[in-house]
Amino acid sequence: MPKQEKLFAVIGLGRFGGSVCRELYTLGHEVLAIDRDLDRVENFIQYSTHAIHGNSTDEAFLKSIGIRNFDHVVVAIGENIQDSVLTTLNLKEFGVHTVWVKAQNTYHQKVLEKIGADRVIHPEVEMGIRTAQSMSSDRLLDYINLSNEYSVVELRATNLIHNRSLLDLDVRAKFGITILAIIRNEQINVSPLPTDIIRENDVLVAMGNNNDLKRFEEKML
Ligand code: ATP
Repeated sequence: MPKQEKLFAVIGLGRFGGSVCRELYTLGHEVLAIDRDLDRVENFIQYSTHAIHGNSTDEAFLKSIGIRNFDHVVVAIGENIQDSVLTTLNLKEFGVHTVWVKAQNTYHQKVLEKIGADRVIHPEVEMGIRTAQSMSSDRLLDYINLSNEYSVVELRATNLIHNRSLLDLDVRAKFGITILAIIRNEQINVSPLPTDIIRENDVLVAMGNNNDLKRFEEKML
């Protein structure tokens, strides 16, 4: 049986919700765009599978569009915290499997976590942290937080480890981190062998505890 496509919905088509919706659609997903502002809905006809005008705090409206059939809904209502909370509650009560919600501030975030949002996104705070992280190191190119303690990072190899093998560096034993891939000239070597040689300017994709990754970066790069 072919794998069922995931159904997405985005509620609130401001800057954040709008960019989530457009990107999902560009990536080829089925995405329903919802807003209570008719002009915004009309603008998103071209960037969504369907664009619907309605108020997401209204249970009857959510029922009428069959929201329970959606696998993943993003609530991108910022200013009106009451509507954001009520919408999230409605979605969880309707049994939507995954609900991600944009938070306006830390109080909003706490409430959303308490009422069962599967992920709370704080775009300005998250982007601020990301910006500071990449400003603080020339070697750190990108990172993904897996949890508060663990990350996957992309690090630029310097001449300190040029021509050395993973075996020779022994990063797992010495630093407790794993090199998942080595990228050279846009070619990705996934799950590199212990004998593979690192060259200056290679990009190392490493996973581990944040402190261990930092230690590796400071000592070896
Ligand atoms: P952004 O910073 O992403 O532009 P924002 O955080 O300022 O947005 P708002 O502009 O308040 O958030 O809301 C985003 C969108 O959500 C708006 O287009 C608004 O019309 C819509 N919206 C707000 N409340 C509801 C609701 N109850 N139902 C449907 N749409 C809503």
